[in-house]
Amino acid sequence: MVKKTKGQTLAEDILSNPKSLPERDHKILGKASEFCEGYKAFLSNKTEREVIDYVLPILREHGYTEYVRGTKYKAGAKFYKVNRGKTIMMCTKGKRPVAEGVRVTVAHIDSPRLDFKPHPLFQEADMAFFKTHYYGGIKKYQWTTIPLAIKGVVHTSDGKAVRISIGEEDDEPSFLITDLLPHLAQNQMRKNASEVVEGEQLNLLLGSWPYDDDKVKDKVKLAVMQILNEKYGIREGDFETAELCAVPAFKPRDMGFDRSMIAAYGQDDSSCAYAEFMAELDVKNPEYTTMTIFADKEETGSDGVTGMRSFFFRDFMEDLAQDEGCEVRHVLQNSVCLSCDVSAAFDPAYPDVQERNNCCYLNHGPCIAKYDGARGKYSTNDASAEMMDYVIGIFRDADVAWQIGELGKIDLGGGGTIASEISVHNIDTVDIGVPVLSMHAPIEVTAKADVYMLYKAILALYQSKKPKDF
Ligand code: MN
Ligand code: MN
Repeated sequence: MVKKTKGQTLAEDILSNPKSLPERDHKILGKASEFCEGYKAFLSNKTEREVIDYVLPILREHGYTEYVRGTKYKAGAKFYKVNRGKTIMMCTKGKRPVAEGVRVTVAHIDSPRLDFKPHPLFQEADMAFFKTHYYGGIKKYQWTTIPLAIKGVVHTSDGKAVRISIGEEDDEPSFLITDLLPHLAQNQMRKNASEVVEGEQLNLLLGSWPYDDDKVKDKVKLAVMQILNEKYGIREGDFETAELCAVPAFKPRDMGFDRSMIAAYGQDDSSCAYAEFMAELDVKNPEYTTMTIFADKEETGSDGVTGMRSFFFRDFMEDLAQDEGCEVRHVLQNSVCLSCDVSAAFDPAYPDVQERNNCCYLNHGPCIAKYDGARGKYSTNDASAEMMDYVIGIFRDADVAWQIGELGKIDLGGGGTIASEISVHNIDTVDIGVPVLSMHAPIEVTAKADVYMLYKAILALYQSKKPKDF
């Protein structure tokens, strides 16, 4: 064996030597792939309502019951509370009283999409369309000429709530937004990318065959509305109260010859939500009560009654505190939270937006973001050294791999997460999430091993007996 030099030994001792997940354990892809079969099924839910509907029966199968205020839950008991069908808080009661703190994780289950306007249906040039209003930060030009599905709920004037989901199955019709042919796109191609396709051009093509009656004005519109009326029992006026949107119709797919990645819509933030969900289901008799939150409205700023700025979370914490005869402020102060949201993986096609020593890479594990925000760290949670040490200590003890990175170069932009909506309640919080390529595009890419390792990280926090000592 060749003897190491003094310098080599010193370097090994005092310099860090980060390893990718395959370098740490080459076999992890097998376990990660198995884990991600469930993830792909989870990804077929593309709106917050669909996710909630999907998880409820699974929770019941795993012994969860709907939370009832005033109940004395025993250690190990599992319960949940849904907020308006769009957000959920899932808990496993710990051995210790909640006054000693709750271990919280939160991910969002809304993703960028095209919502419909209140008066969406119109006819032009013998074609019928829906007017959309985009939801979240999108590059508008990416949403043309791809198959889109229609999802949502319509309340009819005769008192029914009709759920709609159409456009994903092979025997269902598809919908799309048209784009200009290159032959006539001279002017379009000279435009700024944010104006190449404008918001008012994101109109969903619905039909082209007219109703057979010369006395009627908008025959194609009427024919489409007739189909909607026969199929769902809705009238045009019902759109005024409806929540409908268009989402990419693609199915989640394995990606790459090695099938090491997943290509799918909505991985921001379903990758984190699924990792959280599996950790919550798997945690057994934790020391501290766990609270796994799926949030809505993150992509539009966390406002509204189902966004994390709503008091539903605080009120639920207060219920738990009251059930055990303690003050909610003491519960909050002793709690910690992982705000689980995706980060931007380094993309060799766009190296200029990243600072190579402080960005995250595919297959290097979940990325911890000590802070996010923009410019001079405006609007960021910025976790303390003590909180970072606490969380990373738990990961080390549980043999969990992680990486630390910023979203991108300082002056190029930035973004926020839910972390600030949690830390405002006096809960120590840090961001962690799966690295993503093509974030917010109709199809996003993640590495299976990263999703799996985030699950291990969250489970490590949930199973940890380490008291919060800062
Ligand atoms: Mn996100
Ligand atoms: Mn996002």
